[in-house]
Amino acid sequence: MLKMKYLVVGSGLFGSVFAHEAAKKGHHVTVIEKRDHVAGNIYTRNEDGINVHQYGAHIFHTSNREIWDYVQQFTEFNQFINAPLAISQGELYHLPFNMNTFHALWGVKTPKEAAKKIAEQRLTLTRSAENLEEQALSLVGSDIYETLIKGYTEKQWGRPCTELPSFIINRLPVRLTYDNNYFNDRYQGIPMGGYTPIIEKMLTHEKIQLHLNTDFFKKKEEYLANYDKIIYTGMIDEFFDYCYGELEYRSLEFVHERLEEANYQGNAVVNYIDSEIPYTRIIEHKHFEFGKEKHTVITKEYPCEWTKGKEPYYPVNNADNNRLYKKYKTLSQEKSNVIFGGRLGMYRYFDMHQVIEAALQLVAREIK
Ligand code: FAD
Ligand code: UDP
Repeated sequence: MLKMKYLVVGSGLFGSVFAHEAAKKGHHVTVIEKRDHVAGNIYTRNEDGINVHQYGAHIFHTSNREIWDYVQQFTEFNQFINAPLAISQGELYHLPFNMNTFHALWGVKTPKEAAKKIAEQRLTLTRSAENLEEQALSLVGSDIYETLIKGYTEKQWGRPCTELPSFIINRLPVRLTYDNNYFNDRYQGIPMGGYTPIIEKMLTHEKIQLHLNTDFFKKKEEYLANYDKIIYTGMIDEFFDYCYGELEYRSLEFVHERLEEANYQGNAVVNYIDSEIPYTRIIEHKHFEFGKEKHTVITKEYPCEWTKGKEPYYPVNNADNNRLYKKYKTLSQEKSNVIFGGRLGMYRYFDMHQVIEAALQLVAREIK
């Protein structure tokens, strides 16, 4: 078999899965990463026993047995089930939207009573929803939209709900049972010991060379000339020097605080809905792993618009941006020695299991 020389740009989940699989098949892989650590946005660091999710709460979930089995080879997952709380106008609610939420909101106790309440306020559409507001109103009605969705969503995305794509709200289940599990997936958990060791294991191979603090754009032409193929997981518009204009991304500022108390909020994730509060959520990291330390670490997430120099955490997949992305995608197809992958390379709101799936699909296509 011909041995390829691959360059992987970015040591996030996508790049690391590809690098690992390519190295296992005997190919030479160089991974370059512009940050001073591996793992991209799933990076965790240990602070005196607490694994801190440096770039926001990461809960692994999937219904795909193959993906679940795949990640088990790198770590063991605990039994964590995400059950966030939301604070709106001083009241506490359970998420996702379920009988606990409906009871707190309307005092209803049975699924029939809750369904009746929702039906009274639901927007009936004879066509599919054109934006997030329509989708939310048609799914759960106006009380839940006003109390638990509008403020949070507009803060998170910096745009009115009428200008956001409807699929974003479909991430949240709506249930007529007393079930606070944020996900419907069959498998869920947090890797014991954090996410960074998973990536370190993936990248520890004699055929893989890793260079941190190395930005692709410092030597783009040299890399293009010296490698058989490049797997690029950075921003697709940046690769092409923004020739058609900039895609929009949403960024975040994470403010981490260590507190000398054992338990700050009693739950891993608490969302803040009200628009007057500038952050969207507070994460208390120890609860992801049922920590018993005397101290705690919390993180507040402040959303902001992406500008050059900031981290582009979320693609803003509205119609205009998707159209622009298509132009970049067409351009990328002319470059047969560069493959674009991951959240930024494919400009898609991927969760971790989807990133692994996409990387393994690429491996199947690319490495015969
Ligand atoms: P990234 O992790 O972004 O990796 C790309 C890497 O490329 C980065 O390390 C970057 O520094 C590097 N890079 C970029 N440009 C260059 C360059 N020019 N030169 C060198 N290196 C470069 N998913 C879930 O499944 N569950 C969750 O609970 C969850 N929560 C999330 C919460 C937040 C706040 C965010 C932002 C995301 C969340 N996700 C979650 C999604 C998850 O983070 C992504 O699916 C996953 O990390 C994407 O991996 P990636 O490799 O595509 O991208
Ligand atoms: N959302 C909301 N209220 C909440 C939590 C989420 O309206 O309390 C909406 C919001 O639009 C958000 C989307 O649901 O962008 C998806 O939420 P999720 O928690 O999946 O977002 P992520 O973890 O990717 O930021």
